[in-house]
Amino acid sequence: MKILVPVKRVIDYNVKPRVKADGSGVDLANVKMSMNPFDEIAVEEAIRLKEAGKAEEIIAVSIGPAKAQETLRTALAMGADRAILVEADDGVASKTEPLAVAKILKAIAEEEGAGIVMLGKQAIDDDSNQTGQMLAALMGRPQGTFASEVTIEGDHVSITREVDGGLETVKLSLPAIVTTDLRLNEPRYASLPNIMKAKKKPLDTKTPADFGVDVTPRITTTNVSEPPVRQAGEIVEDVDALVAKLKALGVA
Ligand code: AMP
Repeated sequence: MKILVPVKRVIDYNVKPRVKADGSGVDLANVKMSMNPFDEIAVEEAIRLKEAGKAEEIIAVSIGPAKAQETLRTALAMGADRAILVEADDGVASKTEPLAVAKILKAIAEEEGAGIVMLGKQAIDDDSNQTGQMLAALMGRPQGTFASEVTIEGDHVSITREVDGGLETVKLSLPAIVTTDLRLNEPRYASLPNIMKAKKKPLDTKTPADFGVDVTPRITTTNVSEPPVRQAGEIVEDVDALVAKLKALGVA
């Protein structure tokens, strides 16, 4: 079985995003970019399934700018076998919307005959949480979202899902779409020898047009602003003073 793992290049989760002065978006100039953390978890899970003999090949795919190659090389260094970069024009590369991404992924998943497409539950830049669900709908495949456990049993995959107040287990027939949650696993670090080996692994470059997909953004961002600055705290004399303040604020 082949596992397709879509990996998105996003602002590193340790970086505090800077909003552009004109409010048109987030400033990406000279900002450290990395693989979306939920996609690292998806790569790790795919590798574990391969190590357990449940999958034969892991293909990483990224839709984005030429620099998304770095993200794909990271996936290859972790253990993916080959990679596909779908290079979008610079103007739209950082704004590829979930529907366009899902259409491209559908074309690749069909071409490759992927048994599982393992996505992150959401990309930490746009927080859409849409691509996996759209892909499942477009392909007419079952979906197991927010996975905290993935077990392949013959021609099915069991997914334990993190839902409000507990866990739910669903059984999907393969081929299927899976999206990963935070507690599924702890992704490995790529070792130096594997980083060197990854440079020689195959990386194909395509364009959205190769799959007949128009990636022109359909959404217009009207404004992006910083969250309100946190007010300074106040030290009160005693508990009575605290209760009086809380009452004044209407929270006690
Ligand atoms: P989103 O729906 O944008 O929150 O993204 C959910 C998941 O879809 C991500 O964790 C990735 O696995 C995948 N994905 C979204 N955008 C891209 C992209 N441009 N390239 C590759 N994978 C993507």
